[in-house]
Parts: sequence; structure tokens; C-alpha cells
Amino acid sequence: MPIRLHDSIAREARELKPSQPDGVFRFYNCGPTVYAAAHIGNFRTFVVNDLLRRLLEIDLGADKVKHVRNITDVDDKTIRRSREEKRPLADVTKEWTDKFHADCDALNCLRPHVEPTATGHIPEQIDIISILEQKGHAYRAADGSVYFKVSSFDNYGRLSRVKERELQVGAALKAAAADADEKEDGSDFALWKAHKDDDGDVAWESPWGRGRPGWHIECSAMSRKHLGETIDLHTGGVDLLFPHHENEIAQSECCTGKLFAHHWYHSEHLLVDGKKMSKSLGNLYTLADIQKMGHSPMALRYALLAGHPRKQLNFTLESVHGAEKVLGTLRHYRASLPAGGGDAQVFKPVFDALFDDLNTPAALGALFGIINKGSASVDTAAFDRVMNALGLKLDAPAAPKAEAPAEVAALAEQRWAAKKNKDFAAADRLRGEIAAAGWTMLDRKDGYSLEPAKK
Ligand code: AMP
Ligand code: ZN
Repeated sequence: MPIRLHDSIAREARELKPSQPDGVFRFYNCGPTVYAAAHIGNFRTFVVNDLLRRLLEIDLGADKVKHVRNITDVDDKTIRRSREEKRPLADVTKEWTDKFHADCDALNCLRPHVEPTATGHIPEQIDIISILEQKGHAYRAADGSVYFKVSSFDNYGRLSRVKERELQVGAALKAAAADADEKEDGSDFALWKAHKDDDGDVAWESPWGRGRPGWHIECSAMSRKHLGETIDLHTGGVDLLFPHHENEIAQSECCTGKLFAHHWYHSEHLLVDGKKMSKSLGNLYTLADIQKMGHSPMALRYALLAGHPRKQLNFTLESVHGAEKVLGTLRHYRASLPAGGGDAQVFKPVFDALFDDLNTPAALGALFGIINKGSASVDTAAFDRVMNALGLKLDAPAAPKAEAPAEVAALAEQRWAAKKNKDFAAADRLRGEIAAAGWTMLDRKDGYSLEPAKK
């Protein structure tokens, strides 16, 4: 049974199958911008894409899936960071690429088959821009920048329906364009950016003079080089749908004259405590933050997978705490199973749910239904196939629990007692004392836990 996955253009689930005679499924996933640690929202997107990769391999065979995920190692943010730290751009981006890889490994995300970098593909980007210029889809501005002429591509807006939106909001889009003065039209976008003082020594020679590529062009160039002109699936978080993916389609299709991607998939965002993650709200967590609170990367992976990938997921520390317990249950269950002799089809409902637009809540529901029923036909081989599909490594070491000092533990005991006695004034005062000591008390129905407070 093929995987069915929501397609952002068709706006309905469609079957995923290779389109080319070699039977290889060509899968491109927009990767991270490497100027700081990726946050757990970014990892929601990468974990969902890892699930997709694993399911494709189950469906088509591991040698029939080619997965490319890029590294954005030159843009305004990476350049700004290298200037602030007075370090070469390549040093900064290497540091954060290495950290990204370590986090992906800890979260058990399979490495893509090819992981190209933007700076490693400058000639390929210049090549596409030159073709677009020759075909009349791009023009040079006075400062040496090159822009894509949106009005030259009739199909612009097919993915995001931006033209419909534009009609609704009038000229807002155009007015909002920051550097509209160099462009013929506000909705045109940069393919090549002429060198500015702020870019320091980050510049390459090109037919248009010294400069650097615009952001969108890297994915068109790297996907063309490593997967060919037409790919089977292109994915990313929902924020990439417009303008990034709309612009990728315009560049690629105007360059090659062919369909760029058969299928587009966008997973939804992670919220933290019901709000968008941001530094100013103090709710931006990295994997390292979660680990410092005593949680394992596998518990985070489980918590990220527990929500439907096409619905916003509200992350709470409680959810990762609960995930840690669930992993304990799964470990315990596995230890009770015989090594063989079971029914290979016993977990079919779990796979059916995953193959049905990555319905992870239904899949986990089906899994626990089978576990709770205590079916005699389950063996470790069948169970491990489910864990592998979800990428849950049960032998990964559980996180060492951070131990609260005795005086904090005593305050927590007093507060719990005060709460049970409905002495809320005392409970609030004690919570303040616990916080002042650098700990947070998390209440549950049946008890509480102490976590080191987030700085
Ligand atoms: P970036 O490093 O900003 O290019 O983002 C890497 C990936 O993370 C992209 O696919 C984004 O769409 C995705 N992303 C960014 N913020 C979130 C979030 N809060 N929840 C889920 N995915 C996100
Ligand atoms: Zn991209």
C-alpha cells in the first residue's frame, strides 16, 4: 500500500510514488540555516521529515529513496553572526553545522544521502541565474544585483495562491518589500545580491560583478544538481511555503521549462506553552536546554511525534516528562516479548495510520491499543519494526535525572502539603522560594517533579 501524503498544491492527500523509470524516489527537504543552535521547533520539522524518509524506505526499499537536505551557510543571519563574533563565516557555519549533526544523531534522524551547502554550489547558482537572464525572466538592477521578474512567470502563485491573497490585501505585499527601490516591481525577488559593505569579505565573482546569491536560488540549484530537473517530493515547515517555495518553483520551472516537484508537503509549527517560540518570551528551547532539564533526546522525539504533523503542536515540559514515562512503558513491554513466533502483521493498523498522511496520533493510539490488549502474537521482531519506523531507539540511555538539593526538595514537600491543604498563599510563597533557588516545581494530579529552572 503506497504512502498517502497531503499535497500543498492539490490541497488533498495523494499517493507518493517515484515518477522516473529508475524507480528512485527523489526527496528534497529544506535544511537549517547554521548561525545558532536549531531549536526544538526546527527539530519538529526535521523529525517529521525523518519519519517520512523511514516510511518511504519501508514502502520502496532503502536503495530506492534519495534524500537531499541542504545547509544554508550564507545569508543575512550567518553573515551578521560572523561579523558580531569577528570570525570567518566558514568557522561560524562549521560550528553550528557540527552541532546540528550532533543533535540530529541524538534524535536518531537519518543523515540525508547528500547534504549540499550553499557556499559549495556558487557556480551552479550562477548557472541558473544566467539561464533565467537569457530567457528574459531576470534583470540586472543598477547596483549589480539581479532580480527575478515575477510577472514573467504565469504560474506564479500556484502553491501559495499569493495572487488571490494579493487581490485581497491590495498592494500591501508590494509596499512591504524592503528594497523595492532597486526593483522594477515590489514582488520581484533577488537572485544575486551585489556586494555591500555589511557583507565584509563574503563575496564571489559573477557575470554581474562581486556579490552573493539570494536565499531562494540555492535550493533550486542544489536540487537540480543532486536530484535532477524534476523531483518527486519537496518539503519544509509551513513558513517556507511563501515566499521561499513559491520562488523556488518560479526559478526552477523558468530555467528548465519542466515541472519542478510532483508533490509539496509542509508540516505545521511547534508552539511552546501555546505561544510562538521566541527569545524575548524566554520559551525558545534547544535540545541542550531540554537535556539540561534532565530529559532524553528520545523523549523529545516522542513528544514531537505525538501530534499530527499538519496541526500545530503545543509543546510543554509536561509533554516531554510524559514521553519519558511512555518510553519506560515501551522498554518494559519489549522485555516481556518473545524473540520470534509472532504474527508479522500484528502492527498493521499502526503502519496503516502512518501511511495515511503521517497520522501519528492514530498510529500511537493503535500501538497502545495492541499493547494494552496484551496480544499473544507479538514478538520483538514485529515490535522493533514499529520502533524503527518511528525512529524510537529504546536502548538509548535514559537521561540522568538532575537531583534537586535537599533544601529545595524540603521546600517542595512543604509546598505540596500546603497545596493539598488548600493553603494557596503559602503554596505561592514556597513556589517563589523554590524559583529563587533555581528550580521549578511541576505539578501533576498525582504528585510533582522538580526541574532546574530555565535561564
Ligand atoms: P531555518 O533554520 O530557519 O531555515 O528553519 C529550518 C526548518 O525549521 C524549516 O523547515 C522551517 O520551516 C522549520 N521551522 C522553523 N520554525 C519552526 C517551528 N516553530 N516549528 C516547526 N518548524 C519550524
Ligand atoms: Zn529551500
